[in-house]
Amino acid sequence: MLTTHTAAELAAKLHSKEVSAREVTQAFLDRIEAHDGEYGAFLTVDADRALAQADAAQELLDAGTATSMTGIPVAVKDNISTNGMRTTCASKILENYVPPFDATVVEQMNAVGAVTIGKTNLDEFAMGTTNENSAFKPVRNPWDTDRVPGGSSGGSAVAVSAELAAVSLGSDTGGSIRFPASLCGLVGFKPTYGRVSRYGLIAFGSSLDQIGPFGRSVEDVAMTSEMISGYDAMDSTSLVDAKISTKGLKDGSLKGLKVGLPTQLFTDTIDSGVREVLELAIDNLKREGVEFKEVDLPSINYGVTTYYLIAPAEASSNLARFDGVRFGPRLESDGHIESFMKTRGELFGPEVKLRIMVGTYALSAGYYDAYYHRAQQVRGLMASEFEKAYQEFDVLVSPASPSVAFPLGGIKDQMALKLLDFCTIPANMGGFPSISIPCGLSEDLPVGMLLTGPVMSDERLLQISYAFEQAFGRDYRRPPIL
Ligand code: GLN
Repeated sequence: MLTTHTAAELAAKLHSKEVSAREVTQAFLDRIEAHDGEYGAFLTVDADRALAQADAAQELLDAGTATSMTGIPVAVKDNISTNGMRTTCASKILENYVPPFDATVVEQMNAVGAVTIGKTNLDEFAMGTTNENSAFKPVRNPWDTDRVPGGSSGGSAVAVSAELAAVSLGSDTGGSIRFPASLCGLVGFKPTYGRVSRYGLIAFGSSLDQIGPFGRSVEDVAMTSEMISGYDAMDSTSLVDAKISTKGLKDGSLKGLKVGLPTQLFTDTIDSGVREVLELAIDNLKREGVEFKEVDLPSINYGVTTYYLIAPAEASSNLARFDGVRFGPRLESDGHIESFMKTRGELFGPEVKLRIMVGTYALSAGYYDAYYHRAQQVRGLMASEFEKAYQEFDVLVSPASPSVAFPLGGIKDQMALKLLDFCTIPANMGGFPSISIPCGLSEDLPVGMLLTGPVMSDERLLQISYAFEQAFGRDYRRPPIL
């Protein structure tokens, strides 16, 4: 079946003319049609649009001007703007919002003829860890459909894991690519902050948000990263030399690689099953010549608290624009202010409202210094602690998630849910590139290894991940029910 192939394998078939772009897109559309009822990964699929894009891709292939991503079906998280195609953020407040422009990443996809196979489900405005905060429907994990896929990019993760798309785009503010990648047995990559344009990504925490890819292999993720990265004048935080190159991806060696293991991320807050899988994977790499050493990074213990001040503070400001006047539906009431209140009160979900309130409080006069300013100082401290560690280590390695996928509705305590972001948050704080790769199974469910490197080391990080992937093998990546 075409849909079982990685993007790199599909690219080879497209370039050799063994298959047409239309056949590839049709195969994924058929699978979505047949199976997405069960998973809930997609919010919008426009088959005609996708097939038209596939035909345009075929012209590039026939003309010999194709890239490795030409004709590859990509699922796009529904907080990334698509011109003329509904972009909801899985929120009632944007239920029928149709952007009049493409996000830069979507423009880049269009430029090379990658196909937008559909828009994927998420936690409302990317706020959540399980995808249960979607205003429309939950997403189910193909490894066990009674379990969560992780969030907030749960739809993008499941689209790839259930083979409904070859690769996908998600966004990561505190772990929303790497966490679901870990729970679904995928590779999920958050590039260095500033290497992928945020223009057209509906903002959550602007200083933390980054778009990145999901794939079934490191190579697929590297190919997709190359396509979506690059300097963009439309994003004031865009970096020069932002393009991520795939050159040298396969040339890395494990011998002599220096890896730091943050002690704070190997404590008993991590489930013992997850720790065991990580330890086995680490032993395997040791035999291949990788050198591991523990490193103490005490500020990690303040990561969750700091993040849950900074992210809501930025969200409270970013989400002020959704007032029923400029975007989405408007609920009429007696006066202008009353209308605002009704629209925002009824159309934002509970988690989003909670964060707007926390963020507004943290930014209010008299509290700003005590909360927001303090949190920014801790953030600076974290970044410098990590940068110091990078003088000694090529990468830092830890679990990506403290547990494997758990049942839907299984964690009711909101604080417990937020603590799940423990391992992934530091990379967002420092803008570091960070990737989760599958490293084994615990109780028949995938476990992800998180690798985090210094700012701008994206190519090196992908190269190391590729070498790790070769050592681990890829046998356990396919959900057994497929
Ligand atoms: N789980 C985190 C949160 O709820 C991270 C979300 C994200 O990265 N978008 O905020």
